[in-house]
Parts: sequence; C-alpha cells; structure tokens
Amino acid sequence: MAATSLSAAGIRWDLSDLSPDADSARREWSELLERARRFAEQRRGTVGKNGAADLLETLDELDAISQDASRVYFYSTAREHTDATDPETNDLVTVARDRAADLENLLLFVELEWLALEDAAAEELLIAPELAPYAHRLHVAREEKPYVLGEAEEQALNARKPGISAWESLHGRQLATLTVDFDAGGGEEPHTIDRLLAYMYDPDRELRIRALEALYGGLATVADVQAACYDALVGDRLSVDRLRGIPDVMWPTNQRNELDGEVVETMIQAVEQNYGLAQRWFRRKAELFGIDRLVLADQYAPVGQDRELSWPEAVEIVEESLQNFEPRLAGIYRDVLDRGHVDAEPRVGKVGGAYCNSVSKTVLPYVLINYTDRLRDVVTLAHEFGHVTHGKLALERQTYRSYRTGLAIAEVPSTFAQLLAVELLIDREEDPSTRAMLLADRAENAMAGIFRQTMMARFEQRAYGDRTEGRALTNERLAQIWIEENEKYYGDSIQLPEGYRLGWSYIPHFIAVRFYTYAYAFAHLVAFSALAQWRRDPEAFTPAYVEFLSSGASKSPQDLLEPIGVDLRNPQTWADAFGEFERCVAEAEEGVTAL
Ligand SMILES: [Zn+2]
Repeated sequence: MAATSLSAAGIRWDLSDLSPDADSARREWSELLERARRFAEQRRGTVGKNGAADLLETLDELDAISQDASRVYFYSTAREHTDATDPETNDLVTVARDRAADLENLLLFVELEWLALEDAAAEELLIAPELAPYAHRLHVAREEKPYVLGEAEEQALNARKPGISAWESLHGRQLATLTVDFDAGGGEEPHTIDRLLAYMYDPDRELRIRALEALYGGLATVADVQAACYDALVGDRLSVDRLRGIPDVMWPTNQRNELDGEVVETMIQAVEQNYGLAQRWFRRKAELFGIDRLVLADQYAPVGQDRELSWPEAVEIVEESLQNFEPRLAGIYRDVLDRGHVDAEPRVGKVGGAYCNSVSKTVLPYVLINYTDRLRDVVTLAHEFGHVTHGKLALERQTYRSYRTGLAIAEVPSTFAQLLAVELLIDREEDPSTRAMLLADRAENAMAGIFRQTMMARFEQRAYGDRTEGRALTNERLAQIWIEENEKYYGDSIQLPEGYRLGWSYIPHFIAVRFYTYAYAFAHLVAFSALAQWRRDPEAFTPAYVEFLSSGASKSPQDLLEPIGVDLRNPQTWADAFGEFERCVAEAEEGVTAL
C-alpha cells in the first residue's frame, strides 16, 4: 500500500471486536449455522401458535443469532472494503456470502409463519404487553403479506443472492481499484475517484476542470461494465417484483421507510418546484467569479478562502458540536474513536464514500470515511457520527429487530449532526472570507442533499421505467436519461461538460438500494425543521431528540418525529423546511456580498 501524505494516514480501523481472524470467522459461521439449525428444529411450526411468551422467546433467540451473524458478516465486508485485493479476504467474503444466504434460509420460517397467521390471531399477539418491544416491527412486517410467496419459492429466491451480490461486488471493486494518473501540480500520481473528486473544492479553476476531465477519462474505461451491472440488478429486481405482484417499483423502499408513496411524491414535487433556489445561487456565484455562466467543475468551488483542516482538528470540532448539544452524544463519539472503530485514511483498494455500521448490541458501531484534509470533510465525519449516536442509543434501548429504521429516518440524525458541526465551524470562523466559504458550502451541501438526490430519484424512476418496457440500460441510454434529468435541475445556470454523461456510473446507491436517493432529500428537509425547533426551544427539544434517537424503529416515522415538532401529515412541514433552506441560501449570498 502506498503511503499517503494526508493527515489521516494510519487511521485504520481495528476489526478485532468483530473477529480475531479469518479462521475464527469461518469457524463462527459453522457454529452459527448449527445454532440456526437447532433453533429451526425446535421452533418451526410454532411461531405465534403458543401464546405471547413463547413468541417472545423465539424472537429473542432469533435476535441473538441475527446479531452474531451481523458482526461476523461485517468482519468480511469491512476487510473487503479496505483491502479489496487481498486473496484471503476474497475467500472469506465468498464464505460469508454463501453462509449468510444459508442462514437466512434456515431462519426464514419465522417471518413466513408470522405472515401466515390469521389477522385475528396476529392482532391478539400484537397487543400482548410481553411483545411490546417487537410490536411495531411485527405490525409493519405484515404489510408484506400480500407479496410473500411460498417457503420453497422464497428459499429459491434467497439462494440467488450470492449471484446477485456478485454484480454489486463487481461494480464496487471496479470503482475501488480504478486509478487515474493525474498531475495536481507536484508530478503525476495515481489518483482514486475520491481523490479526484476532492479537487472539486479546490480554488484553482484549471485544476478542477482538469481533475473532472481525468475522472471522466477513467470512468469511460469502466462505464460499459458499470451499466451492465446496473442493468442486471434492475432487471432482477423487476422480475422479482413481477413474481411477487408488487405494483410499484418504489413500493419496497417506501414500505421500508414506512412512508406513503403519496407523501414521497408530494415531497419530490415540492423539491422540484424549488430548483430555482439553486439556479439563483449558481447565477450569483458566476457573477462573483466574473464569468457569464458556471461550468460543472465550478459547482462546489469555494467562494472566499478555503483552508485545510487536519484530522485531529476535525475530530475536535465534531466532538465539541456534540458536547454543546448533548454531552451524552459526545461520550459515545469519544468511545468509538478510542476503540479504533474508525477508518479514515484514503488508499488504493479501499472503497470510496463513507458509512457507519452499527453491528450489534454488544459491539460499538464502526465508521469508514475517506478523509482528504478539506474543510468540508468535517461534514462527512459529523454525518457518520450522527448515525453512530443513533445506532448506539437505539441498540441500548431496543431489540436488535427494532433498532434499525428505514433509510429516510436513518438519515435524519446524520444530517442533523452535520448541521450542528457546520454551525459551530461558522460561529468559530474569524476570517470573513473563510466564513463566506462555509456559508456557501452549507447551502451547496443542502442543494446536493435535497435537489441532486431528488434529481437522482427521478433518474432511477426513468431507468426502471425503461427497463420495464423492455429497453436495456446501456451506457448510452443511462447517459441520456442522466443528462435530461440534470438539465431540469440546473436549467441554464450551469454548463454540463460532455464527460458528465458518465456521471451516473459511480453512484453506489443506485446499485445498493433502489431509491435510497430520496431518503437524503427527506432527511435533510426534516433536519432543517428540527434545527429550527431546537433554536426555538432547546430545553424542550434536546430530551425529545435523544428520545427519538433511543426509540430506533419502534414507532412509525410520524410518531417518532411528532415529539420533536415535525409533523409529516402537515404540508407546512415542507414549507418550513424550505424556509430554513432559503435562509441558508440568503446567508450564503450575504457572505459573498461581504467579500
Ligand atoms: Zn448517511
């Protein structure tokens, strides 16, 4: 591995809380399968038939097995994500994938028997006090009842999972190992995608434009395979939907988010109606740069004075922002860092982007990020630690089954945490020029979260629509949809370069989870509303917010958010959120005017 000159060099995670080594992980998979077999022998045919106390025992035991599987599975994923070329890791990943599919098959009967229960019997169990820790999840699970097939069919569908994951892996590995020789001023060096993208925040315009061109040059060598991966995955999802009789491609995501399709569509339309807010800012920015119109490489260009921020400084800022809000959250943050659960160093063979995995009730969450010394990397750090605090508090209070929320709610604490960290950065900044940059960055971040993700959800809708009508998702077709949807967003405020046709090809969420994209828009808007509530009445808001984090997925989004002052049934919620968004853009405009 090449050493890097970045300040997060050497910040690699310690995976020993997951498993001591590959051999132990293999052994543990065998033990887990044995445990699952015994569990299935004992419990098969009994789910919901012997009263609430018996069902509670079944669910507790299943929870324990699922958590151990989550931990040992993540051990192999974590290794794959940080060392994609290690042969031992690749073998282990294969074992983990196969065993996880076997395990799921052995345990599948619990869900199927729960769904097969008559409504009256299920209703009776759902109101039993013993089952309260599981009640909401059990209730939500029954919404899938109309679309679930017989056990043998479900097992056959599950058995295909390793083959399906292989497409995802191919897509991810191709991007993780892609490097482009690029000279950023100090001689030619191999650059990963993330490192090239980091130049988009560089003040040097010529460097930004060249880096973007280099990125597209690299992507062009993999785009056909990336399109084939996406086509295979979308085609598979659609044929499984047809078998199940699922009427709407967004239904599986909406159901997991516990959001009505109508609520989602209303939100998406509200976002599209506000695209002009971004265009207004891009025109202002062009004026500031003294050009007629921005090019894409200018989109995130710093206005004012950017500066570097070292890893230790970023760590300190996020800690203080959490400490100011609620010391308990800062304590969790410190524990996770001290335990070596963070991998921050960018390097070849490591996946791009960032994520948090909350693992289980007995292991502290893990975080992967690619820290590149930019001031805005602190946003990513705060974001992932928003997930960490949510995961930790929810796992403390809830059962494993009841801790994990749908994607849309899951992104609320992460977005909220990043807004807190950015506010602290802005407050602390004495240089008006850097302050202007931070204000602009906050507004642009909201644009990326709210507008760009919504545009991507529309891209996905059209891709699934084309595939449904029998049109293959080739590189060219995806490029065309991508450009058309982007033009709706940017209007004539930004000129899109030819290479941007490949912009769809490195978005991991298209591959991992369909329509994950709109969750970011939803969460950013909800976080804006929450922040306004906090400012209005911090004394009342903070405990209610901690309660929201600790509640995990034990309630519906409506019931989770109402106590923190966000009512999803009220259209005013989106209007309030756009009020906050508009305020961010206006402050950014003021910051620029002060330069
Ligand atoms: Zn997130």
